Amino acid sequence: IWSAVPAGPPDPILGVTEAFKADKDPRKINLGVGAYRDENGKPYVLNAVKQAEEILVKQNPDKEYLPITGLPEFTQAAAKLAYGSDSVPLNESRIAVTQSISGTGALRIGGAFLGRFYPHTRTIYLPVPSWGNHTPIFRDSGLEVKGYRYFDKKTVGLDFQGMKEDIKNMPEKSIVLLHACAHNPTGVDPTPEQWKELSDIIKEKSLFPFFDMAYQGFASGSTSHDAFAVRHFVSEGHQIALSQSFAKNMGLYGERVGAFSMITADPEERARVDSQLKIVIRPMYSNPPLHGARIASTILRNDELYGLWESEVAHMANRIIQMRDRLHENLVDLKTPGEWSHITKQIGMFSFTGLTQPQTKTLAEKAHIYMTADGRISMAGLNQHNIDYFSESVSKAVKG
Ligand code: PMP
Repeated sequence: IWSAVPAGPPDPILGVTEAFKADKDPRKINLGVGAYRDENGKPYVLNAVKQAEEILVKQNPDKEYLPITGLPEFTQAAAKLAYGSDSVPLNESRIAVTQSISGTGALRIGGAFLGRFYPHTRTIYLPVPSWGNHTPIFRDSGLEVKGYRYFDKKTVGLDFQGMKEDIKNMPEKSIVLLHACAHNPTGVDPTPEQWKELSDIIKEKSLFPFFDMAYQGFASGSTSHDAFAVRHFVSEGHQIALSQSFAKNMGLYGERVGAFSMITADPEERARVDSQLKIVIRPMYSNPPLHGARIASTILRNDELYGLWESEVAHMANRIIQMRDRLHENLVDLKTPGEWSHITKQIGMFSFTGLTQPQTKTLAEKAHIYMTADGRISMAGLNQHNIDYFSESVSKAVKG
């Protein structure tokens, strides 16, 4: 039956992990996958998560199905975390929110809802480049995917002029996807002033902003600081859509905890949107998983655990910032040709190093260092034990 099914290409990021696993050299480093690693290169389960799980075990809760839109305590707490406790639409019960299968699922629900109900267009514009899964998610949701300029290869920074020009040239009421903070894969974000300008342009053109917030807290160490763009757009009256993931900021990767929300005009409209979100979700997976949402809601609703979590998010973000400083310092000390200040200017989990494809190949073959072919590295894979070896290897690869 399946003789005509062609073999698909391997996933570009998970393929890096495969190559890493097959390498037997003790110095090997995997900078492909975007998952936090501690000072010893090990996966990190947050203490806030462990303590929340202990509380949950004592509560001995049942395993009944959740409602289609998930655990209400969780979705309300997630919306509060994103929009802020003083958010006007939140306090006016105008935010439709549903639990989702992490950020990917939230984007997919949003794509499907927009594909079915957004009255003006089927086109969504993504930054170039964007997270590799954005295009297939929205395409498979029935939308047409186009791009807007974002990254400037020459400065290894934001192409703000190009971005503004492309946004101004979009047809009115187009859907535009924005990374709320810690842009993946570049690590390059607009400044608060630039966000304000973008909000004005997006308003003038009546575009529909869809925020993907997969790293709240992970960029700066502060969840409210990282929510600046989302909260600014909302305060300016944009009726945004928002995808949230708790994979990175709570280290709940495999638990698949996320939320999708949309701002509506009033509670009556919210109720109609809610009813249709259920109709979108029900045939996809019926209802979401329990455990991760319980963990996240326990943390978000308990002052002590919330405080502990905030300090752990800050710790993870700061360790990454320290690694950026060390890497930059090392590359300069080693007299590595080129300009490396982008390493410390970029934020979040990733850095777009500017390394070329042949250089990344050399690093894999000669130094056992694995990253995606576009030169993106997961900063979290670096630590005090491997940072010097990594810096020296990069320096050698660049010198050729
Ligand atoms: N959006 C972006 C920009 C991401 O980087 C990621 C994770 N790599 C996601 C969404 C979704 O991840 P998850 O489904 O694990 O929450």
